[in-house]
Amino acid sequence: ELVTVKDLSEKMKLKVGDVIKKLMSMGTLVTINQRLDTDIAILVASELGYDAKLVSIYSEEKVENKIEDPAKLKPRSPVVTIMGHVDHGKTSLLDAIRSSNVAGGEHGGITQHIGAYRVLTQTGGYVTFLDTPGHEAFTAMRSRGAQVTDVVILVVSATDGVMPQTIEAINHAKAANVPVIVAVNKIDLPGADPQKIRQELSNYGLVPEDWGGENIMIDISAKKRLHIDSLLEMVLLKAEMMELKANPDRSAEGIVVEAKLDPRKGPVATLLVQTGTLKIGDNLVIGTTYGKVRAMSDEHGKRFTEAVPSTPVEVLGINEPPQAGDKFVVVSHESHAREIAQSRKEKAKAASLKPRHHLSLLDISAGNTKDLSIILKADVQGSLGALSDSLERMSTSEITLKIIHKGAGSITESDVALAVASDALIVGFNLRPDAAVEKLAEHEGVTINVYRIIYDLIADVKAAMEGLLDPDT
Ligand code: GDP
Repeated sequence: ELVTVKDLSEKMKLKVGDVIKKLMSMGTLVTINQRLDTDIAILVASELGYDAKLVSIYSEEKVENKIEDPAKLKPRSPVVTIMGHVDHGKTSLLDAIRSSNVAGGEHGGITQHIGAYRVLTQTGGYVTFLDTPGHEAFTAMRSRGAQVTDVVILVVSATDGVMPQTIEAINHAKAANVPVIVAVNKIDLPGADPQKIRQELSNYGLVPEDWGGENIMIDISAKKRLHIDSLLEMVLLKAEMMELKANPDRSAEGIVVEAKLDPRKGPVATLLVQTGTLKIGDNLVIGTTYGKVRAMSDEHGKRFTEAVPSTPVEVLGINEPPQAGDKFVVVSHESHAREIAQSRKEKAKAASLKPRHHLSLLDISAGNTKDLSIILKADVQGSLGALSDSLERMSTSEITLKIIHKGAGSITESDVALAVASDALIVGFNLRPDAAVEKLAEHEGVTINVYRIIYDLIADVKAAMEGLLDPDT
């Protein structure tokens, strides 16, 4: 189950001697056929200059599939992000869920927002919620390589219906391949028409189960606290069908949800454990920083000595605040943690001097067809439909042209984040990105092309597709 030094070297196409030397420099003496702890394997790979993509071979799912013994996997609770248009009730729903928490009332202490919380439902299952609603935070995390959300709850107001950010949220969830449960909110209002909302949503590919579709849809009122329990049970049901699993009996790995410098407590970070069990005294490498777990607590201030998969905990004992979306791993020695963090910091500094490049517009899927993902923005709705039809028709047997998101209105920072997360190209028609967005795109290495003439747009996309076919360009 654990990878040997030899296997790992072969996977990275490196000489075994070099890998052993690197391990020695990290303070680990090994022989060629020795099996490595997963964390050490991950770290040495990252130390040998593997970029995040390759390192992610050893990320949670893959570790579970490849190295982890399936017999050791146990069900874990789902992690949920709430999305939806502004004012449709995301914050109200988060509050309603929080107050429905069966276990929440027991602690009596002040509730602090730590970026994520876990609730115990009526039927005894746990659900974890990320406390920053909206697709911006979701996609920002994903653009840093962190996929933490298992299920998206899309809140749609039963009086307003589908709005621009509803569509954005649908597309961001779709691009991340995360299933969507719809909460049709504000059903207490006289003008509420939940059936009409279902109709509208089905135009965007979300079809309720009782219409033969795949999406669970529930009518709720966040304000009047109606059907919140059923919503939670549906999330649990969905999680059960997804067979979410992790191995709790190994060293922990996961993601930083939030971090800050607290004037009283010093650097604190909310960590979401994705696999393994995090314990007091564990040595951590977190992005470019490190630490030792001195204390763990939840949003009610309840202390933990151990945190199992899908548990968010605020951790004390970190050297300096990491960044949201950073990965953390537990390593055996404090000195390793420090050295690795130090060398990553140096690398990050060097890398920040060079612009990053997302030139890989292609995504070679298993079937050997290539995808060209495009985010299409236009000044008016009318040109949008015509353009996206023409573009989608350009798909060939070799290249699938995918419009992963389209919308009328300016190019936004959230579009750039989606482009980074999905390796997409942004195409604008009859509009210009503002300076801030342009700067962000440049920094992230995202290509934005804007056009005034449809013919030019089509010709350029065609050229990009041909470029994908020809490896020399
Ligand atoms: P967000 O922008 O999506 O986070 O929306 P909020 O949670 O801030 O809600 C926006 C407004 O809608 C607030 O005034 C809420 O009180 C109200 N609201 C939220 N949920 C409901 C509901 O179920 N019924 C009614 N009548 N009002 C609601």
